[in-house]
Amino acid sequence: MKISKIALYSYKFQYRAGDYTFRPKPVEDRVNDSTVVVLETDAGLFGVGETCPLRPTYLPSTPESARAGLSILAKALVGVDAVGPRAIYRAMDDTLNGFPEAKSAIDVAAWDLLGKAANLPCYALFGGKQNDGVPVFETIGPEEPEEMVANLEAMRRRGTKVFQLSMGRGFEEDVHRLRSLIKCIAPGERVTIDANRRCTGEQAIRVVNGILDLTHGKDIWIEQPCKTYAESRYVRSRIGLPMLLDEVINDSEDLLSAVYERSLDGVVTKLSHVGGPSRVLDLIAIAASGGVKVRIEDTSGSAIARAASAHLASVIPRDGIFATYAFPESDFKLGVEGGILSDGILRPTGRAGLGVELDMTALGEPLAVYSA
Ligand SMILES: [Mg+2]
Repeated sequence: MKISKIALYSYKFQYRAGDYTFRPKPVEDRVNDSTVVVLETDAGLFGVGETCPLRPTYLPSTPESARAGLSILAKALVGVDAVGPRAIYRAMDDTLNGFPEAKSAIDVAAWDLLGKAANLPCYALFGGKQNDGVPVFETIGPEEPEEMVANLEAMRRRGTKVFQLSMGRGFEEDVHRLRSLIKCIAPGERVTIDANRRCTGEQAIRVVNGILDLTHGKDIWIEQPCKTYAESRYVRSRIGLPMLLDEVINDSEDLLSAVYERSLDGVVTKLSHVGGPSRVLDLIAIAASGGVKVRIEDTSGSAIARAASAHLASVIPRDGIFATYAFPESDFKLGVEGGILSDGILRPTGRAGLGVELDMTALGEPLAVYSA
């Protein structure tokens, strides 16, 4: 079975109720530009993938760079054996250096295709479920403390137990807002305080010291406070809270080094950042051997990204789960979901592949088609 055709589609959307860019409400300039890959075979099967990089100041990727990479990869992959993902990945690496945001979408599609060929859900191909569903986190934006507490209560009513707060807006504001929220955190709830690399080491340490007395006995984490690995590592050595590393862990080598140097307690893996499910599975294995928790998500996206996160999160050993992310409802319906969110827990469906059924009519005409 060979890859006979690769089609690229795009769609733009906005989330209806904010997302994890720390903006609680939809904003006009926050349009997500997603690229969908449909990988077809000469046996009539097809797999679907998606990539939707965030704003260009976040990671070194954009929707345009994803599509540039995809056009190079698609030309090279037509005619290649469609089974299976690791061999296809090798063909991608032999064609193009870097561009994880492009490779991710092809890799997602290759796993979806393999699942459909085997008539098995992706989680079975990934090694099988190791948990009964993974808690999703929700982000509480930097509003006034009363509004933040009201948002927390609304999220609790939806079943959410993992919350992400932001820091990096100045010592006094950070400490004031964080103290108000942390006081409300109940047993069984988890909080991560994400600076998105905005802090210097000194700023991060001072903010943590300003809230530390409230964190005893609570499940409070700090997430990638500084721009660099070395500075974040320094902060972790000086604070009494566990730390997630996010943007500085690009690949297996980065995670191996961080585990070896005992520089982290958890790792964030975004599919389009690290290059797709094949790479995320490598990171899950390294994290498990190093006693590091894993949070699975993607930079942005909708039904396909959510399904890929659901299948990958379901194969993390129970002790290794931090959380996952389920993208909020958007103003664009990509198709039938392959990841089901219920009472704050995300689970994959048992349908073959990712379980997503794309609405091709909604996607419209392809941007480009590559075939033999
Ligand atoms: Mg983060």
